[in-house]
Amino acid sequence: SPVIVWLRRDLRLSDQPAIAEAAGKGPVIPVYVLDDETARHRAMGGASRWWLHHSLTSLDAALRGKGSRLILRRGRCEEILPALVEEIGASEIHALHHYEPWWRNAEKAVGKRIGLCLHHGNYLAPPGSVTTGSGAPYKIYTPFWRALNERMPPPESLPCPDAITAPETWPQSDDLASWNLLPTRPDWAGGLRDFWVPGETAAQTRLDALVAKAHRYKEDRDLPSLDATSFLSPHLHFGEISPARIWHAVSDAGGSVGTFLGEVGWRDYAQNVILQFPDYGSRSARDPFDSLPWRSGPEAEADLRAWQQGRTGYPIVDAGMRQLWHTGWMHNRVRMIAASFLVKHLLIDWRRGEQWFWDTLVDADYASNAVNWQWTAGSGVDSNMFVRIMAPLSQSEKFDAAAYIRDWVPELADLPDAEIHDPAPMTRPRSYPPRLIDHRAARERALAAWEQARR
Ligand code: FAD
Repeated sequence: SPVIVWLRRDLRLSDQPAIAEAAGKGPVIPVYVLDDETARHRAMGGASRWWLHHSLTSLDAALRGKGSRLILRRGRCEEILPALVEEIGASEIHALHHYEPWWRNAEKAVGKRIGLCLHHGNYLAPPGSVTTGSGAPYKIYTPFWRALNERMPPPESLPCPDAITAPETWPQSDDLASWNLLPTRPDWAGGLRDFWVPGETAAQTRLDALVAKAHRYKEDRDLPSLDATSFLSPHLHFGEISPARIWHAVSDAGGSVGTFLGEVGWRDYAQNVILQFPDYGSRSARDPFDSLPWRSGPEAEADLRAWQQGRTGYPIVDAGMRQLWHTGWMHNRVRMIAASFLVKHLLIDWRRGEQWFWDTLVDADYASNAVNWQWTAGSGVDSNMFVRIMAPLSQSEKFDAAAYIRDWVPELADLPDAEIHDPAPMTRPRSYPPRLIDHRAARERALAAWEQARR
């Protein structure tokens, strides 16, 4: 009898343990279920939906090359999958573990009704398995990374199966177009199309490019004007490539690649935090964040919109927010600056920023997004202090963002390097908005809010 492979954020054929296992057992039915209905199931944002559409298209083509195809169904996983098992007389379901709270609930619910075999493969080490000597999970990144690193290398990658046996008859599949994952009116995805190619082959191309520049990563990764990082994040999020494969390719390249691998380790760390604190995406982990007098009302909403649209009057923040809107991605250093600006300069609740990133990032990831927002805000279990307030203008200079600003804020393109980070009122072009708030005033307001919350 056929075996079902339940695909989620693991849209690849190579180093995909669920597919490898199922392929050795007989006919395979690969299924993707779009679940927008289950309560507490966080619906994907717009940029992620765009990516998903193309990633599923690419996976279906790859499956067809192996004699198989992808079956699409829409609805609650815990209803769709048992019904499918019955319809086709399947013997079991294979899938990879996922750790978002809604996926863990779905796994439990599906597993109660039918045989569900879960495999590891989307993290360097299974989340929850890296613990202290006394078996407790780590809360802080550095000791977590040390312990994880001691367990490396990860297992060798599994090869892509040569062929995947088809069932005698295929069950009915939705037409992907009917899911309306792509934007139409307006079609805001032009920048995403220019910048990205979703799918496993493109992920491998990004990895090859990273291997060629990995020796410069440590020095260059914080400079947003350079393309020094891997751009692998959306591919990793959708599981188009496994972190183990990345680990082996980068380690084989030689040189000082520890910094890069440490970033991939952050991804594992974030997932470990979510496993301990499932509502990390919506609840501050520390006091007194719930008592902070976050701004609200029409003025704060207008400031939030200016931040979202890249009109804060701070060039580095605006460049980042426009890059995000245009390409669905933002450089990590600039993500930190822009996030800090929202939380501390504008005194707007970090959750509003988390939600915007969730909707607009192609790599929007529940764990990585929440952990990094809480880190930046200072509310996380391992984080910066709230009172340490990043100065966007000096960050922009320090990390040499002039060319980056010219790319994304064309109103400022004619300013010399010395002025572009912090254009003086006299040279600031009229077309560029004035600052929402002066840096010093913002700092004082944030510190006063902190003192008020602590009282
Ligand atoms: P590289 O520098 O090439 O790093 C390689 C890989 O390591 C990345 O692809 C990513 O999977 C992982 N990684 C790197 N830095 C981090 C980090 N700080 N935390 C977790 N994993 C990391 N990353 C996401 O994947 N999804 C998110 O939703 C997300 N939200 C963020 C929100 C904020 C406020 C901040 C400050 C950071 C966020 N990040 C998020 C982390 C980081 O910015 C991106 O992973 C990185 O910029 C992706 O680019 P890259 O693939 O070129 O990274």
